[in-house]
Order: sequence, then C-alpha cells, then structure tokens
Amino acid sequence: MHKTKVRVVEDVLDANNTIARANREDFDRAGVKVVNLMSAPGAGKTSLLERALDGLAQQGVRPGVLEGDVQGSFDADRLSLLHVPVTQLNTDGGFGGECHLDANMVRSALPSLPLDEIDLLIIENVGNLVCPAEFRVGADVRMMVASVTEGEEKPLKYPLMFRACELVVINKIDLLEHLDFDLDRFLANLEQVHPGVEYLLTSARTGDGVEALRDRLVAIAARAGAAA
Ligand code: MG
Repeated sequence: MHKTKVRVVEDVLDANNTIARANREDFDRAGVKVVNLMSAPGAGKTSLLERALDGLAQQGVRPGVLEGDVQGSFDADRLSLLHVPVTQLNTDGGFGGECHLDANMVRSALPSLPLDEIDLLIIENVGNLVCPAEFRVGADVRMMVASVTEGEEKPLKYPLMFRACELVVINKIDLLEHLDFDLDRFLANLEQVHPGVEYLLTSARTGDGVEALRDRLVAIAARAGAAA
C-alpha cells in the first residue's frame, strides 16, 4: 500500500515535469525569462513586486506577471496599476483550489500571456512554503521571499523550499528592531539547508534593498539562453 502511494506521487511529479519542460520551451522560443516567486502568505511578494517592477522598463526590461491565487484578484489589481501586463490564475476555477501552481495550470494561462510584449515573466505563486517547491512550472529561476516575522527556524522546517531557490529575499527588515528575530541564526540555518545560496535583505516598506532586487531581475532577463 505504502509503495503504491509513493509510486502515484512520483508519477504525478513526472507528468508535471514533462509539462514544465514544454512551458520552458515555449518561454525560450518567445525569448522570455521566467521567475517562479514563492513564499508563505503575507511575506511581501506583491509589495516587493510593486517596488521592484516599477522602473524595470527604464532599464530595458519589459516585465509581465502571472498572479497565482486560490481566489480573487487583489494582488493582480494592485500590480496592474503599474501598467504591467498581469494575468490572474485562480486555482479554485477548475483546479480544485490547489495550494500551489503546477505546470499544467501555468500552461493553461499561456494563451493569455502577452509573451511577445515582455522579456521577463514573474510568476507569483500561491502563498505556501510547502507545495509550490514540489511543482516545477517551467521557470528559469526559483526565488523566494522569507520575512523576518516568520521566525529564524523556517529554513530548517521547510528545507525543500529554501533548497529549491537560487535567491532568498529576506523581507521586512525594517521590523528587525521590534522583533526577537535573530538574523545571524536565520542565515546560519539557511546556510545549513542550502550552502552558499545567495540572499538579499529588503524592506518593501522603506525600499531598502529593492534596487538590488531590481538589478537581480535585470540580470536574469539578460541571461543567455534560447533567445527568440
Ligand atoms: Mg501576493
């Protein structure tokens, strides 16, 4: 019984990876670099994007956003104010209210994405520290936001997420002085689960570190790859 269960999960992930590769080929063909942005709910993904996407066009990068949520379009509505193309993908509409985006959901959104008009697609995943790390969607880069209000033990409790990402954005650092959060301990925990991983310290509220995040997005958009 146990073996059967494991097998089913493996099959699901295999099927997902196949679709993720097809997504990736379509993105490559269009010359679009893709970031899968993940975090727990409320870590500040949308607020950081509001800051970081503003000004990207002046640096020659045309961003777009695929906004993943279980329900509603609160974040998409906020980001569309930046005059950036935003496509809403709700997992409760035919996807069973899933707690993550998978490759098939992203594939279903491809016809709605203006791939010819953008250079960089940010996929804002559903807020969750577990499931989004398990499902590849066809992104070039996986990135996560960890806010200092979540506690310094999170890399040890959710190692797959912290291991899956090539950049960890540590957000809400303006709150550090009000919290018992031990940044050094968090960084040591992060190093333990993902040695050498790059990280940035940011505050979407004050704007600290946002320029570095924007630079990172520009660098991702400029990466060599199968260009259009
Ligand atoms: Mg959000």
